Amino acid sequence: MYNITLIPGDGIGPEVISSAKKIIEATGLKVNWDIVNAGINVYKKKGVLIPNKVFESIEKNKIALKGPITTPIGSGFRSINVMLRKKYDLFSNVRIVKTIPGVNSPFKNVNLIIFRENTEGLYSGIEKKISDNSAEAIKIITKNASLKIAKTAFNYAKKNNKNKITVVHKANIMKLTDGLFLDCVRKISKEYPDIKLQEIIVDNMCMQLVMNPSQFEIIVTTNLYGDILSDLCAGLVGGLGLVPGANIGNNMAIFEAVHGSAPDIAGKNIANPTAIILSGAMMLNYIGETKKSNLILDGVSKTISEGKYITRDLGGSSSTTEMTEAIIENM
Ligand code: NAD
Repeated sequence: MYNITLIPGDGIGPEVISSAKKIIEATGLKVNWDIVNAGINVYKKKGVLIPNKVFESIEKNKIALKGPITTPIGSGFRSINVMLRKKYDLFSNVRIVKTIPGVNSPFKNVNLIIFRENTEGLYSGIEKKISDNSAEAIKIITKNASLKIAKTAFNYAKKNNKNKITVVHKANIMKLTDGLFLDCVRKISKEYPDIKLQEIIVDNMCMQLVMNPSQFEIIVTTNLYGDILSDLCAGLVGGLGLVPGANIGNNMAIFEAVHGSAPDIAGKNIANPTAIILSGAMMLNYIGETKKSNLILDGVSKTISEGKYITRDLGGSSSTTEMTEAIIENM
């Protein structure tokens, strides 16, 4: 029996989390779900954005599956997602971007993983209004966090027999911050003589990705570039509804889709549940339940390639619930 924290989130969160829960249970995995929530809806009811029991549950179980949580734009409270990543030093944000046969996209063989530094960079939240005409943000890059994400990416490459890693940076302009990040990645790369390090400046990377994405396998980068490149890469394989992710630290992990709360489609039972379902499959892999994880991957691939029960973002007309049921049938 596994104890897992389940955070439904808001927007489409509760709809897609409910799908992922059903799918994980359909693998036969015995789970004691500890369901807790955070965000604006909780604030409206209880007056706190993250109740203590969310922290207690994550700290006890050390593993969570989380739906997206809305963060107000411009003003209002800071991101709960970013806060959880920093608080628990979940320094590695891993995002798997892979073509699923049957999805309508001009690119056919995309198969890459993004390792995004997850705790600092321009996400440090150090911002100041200077005057009515100006504001500033501070970008923090540390050796410690940069070495850790680099090491994680290289370890992954070695374990999976990959022979190239691409580091994405802007060290030509951000000489000290991105320069430090790049130096750290270069330093770690020396420990892995069989893995080639390719260095690319972020603007060129965007162009390369939309011209020929299958030239890349493993990308390591700083927080903000990783965030932006993840959505770009999601677009290459059919959209945000398909890309899973994980926030991983030394002894704790929170699994979540790359997408946000999608307020434009929330509450309509039309969101694509694939991204969070695949995040659930990543979670099963993480706990060593590889066979059950593969069952999920098979169910998702079969359902999408059949194309009969797919949501509208993929060109179908099925609801979230119908697609979930089809995946279970196909597992
Ligand atoms: P979004 O990812 O929520 O949506 C972008 C577009 O993709 C929308 O058109 C949406 O309908 C579509 N989309 C997203 N997921 C989909 C799915 N599963 N199926 C079908 N279509 C899907 O990005 P946004 O609109 O920029 O952000 C909305 C809110 O989510 C913001 O408050 C943002 O801060 C928050 N957010 C949270 C997380 C997180 O919790 N980790 C991540 C990203 C954004």
